[in-house]
Amino acid sequence: MTGKTEARELLLDLIGAADAANRGTTPEQAVDDAIAEAILNQPSLRDCLVPGCMRQFDAMSCMAGDPPPRPSWDGKGWATLGSGSIFPAGGHICPDHKQTVTEHWPRRLKLPSDRWSVDCACGWTPTPQTWHGVLRAHWEQHLLTELGTLPPAAPIPDPEHRTPLTEHTERSLSELYDRVEDAEADRDGTLDFARTAFLLYQQAVPALLGARTALEALRTRITLDSRDWTADKVDALLYAILVGADCEDDTEGHVHNDIDCAGEQGLWNLAKQHGIPAEQTIQANQHRWWIANAIKTAKQIQEQR
Ligand SMILES: [Zn+2]
Ligand SMILES: [Zn+2]
Ligand SMILES: [Zn+2]
Repeated sequence: MTGKTEARELLLDLIGAADAANRGTTPEQAVDDAIAEAILNQPSLRDCLVPGCMRQFDAMSCMAGDPPPRPSWDGKGWATLGSGSIFPAGGHICPDHKQTVTEHWPRRLKLPSDRWSVDCACGWTPTPQTWHGVLRAHWEQHLLTELGTLPPAAPIPDPEHRTPLTEHTERSLSELYDRVEDAEADRDGTLDFARTAFLLYQQAVPALLGARTALEALRTRITLDSRDWTADKVDALLYAILVGADCEDDTEGHVHNDIDCAGEQGLWNLAKQHGIPAEQTIQANQHRWWIANAIKTAKQIQEQR
């Protein structure tokens, strides 16, 4: 018999049948209700993703906006991960580690060689891996090294501090051989990646720059046309996507006004005017963003070349 059953029997003994009847219940029912409530109200604890961190918060009370069952389980100040990182199932970061994790924010990289790596916000990146599941462990090791929990990787000895030949042991030599092997594998992987990335870059950049030229020419053509581009439904959609019906001024401090900017309701007003369904309007907005973003990116690339 388990302890749970013994505890249940004990609880039943503690409840007077008469007291229970006064309250319109039975001892059995009262105990079952209490157990059910205890299970329902169990905290749902979430851990901090930094290895070794003991902090936890209760997701149940946090979502319900209730005070946590224990003060240390307060969800205030915790951050929750979205997608796009090396944590496919998401994760949580305690207030103590928010700064550190932000400084080492890991983005998962799928390399053209079908291998995986991490782009850490600090610039660190591990050797490409064949299984993406190990990325998290590599990043954790990096984080713990940065936090000082783990010793830094031993530096390759500089010429002045080289071990004299007579002091080498079989172990020290095999360690050196291992390093040479690792370095060779790293170099091959990096060269492969650099080659593939460069080939893709060479293909992608002219395509993007060409698209920019064509899209900007179309935009000029439309803006110079004397036609009322809002009168016809298809014209209005073309205008909204190729020219943009909303204000796109993203300079810092710009506040939309009625004098020299289109505000942010232009597209929705056109949609209303022509009875364009909301989904289609949202899609047009997305398409406009893609075009504006492609032009912006092409400009940035051209400035860098
Ligand atoms: Zn933490
Ligand atoms: Zn880092
Ligand atoms: Zn504006």
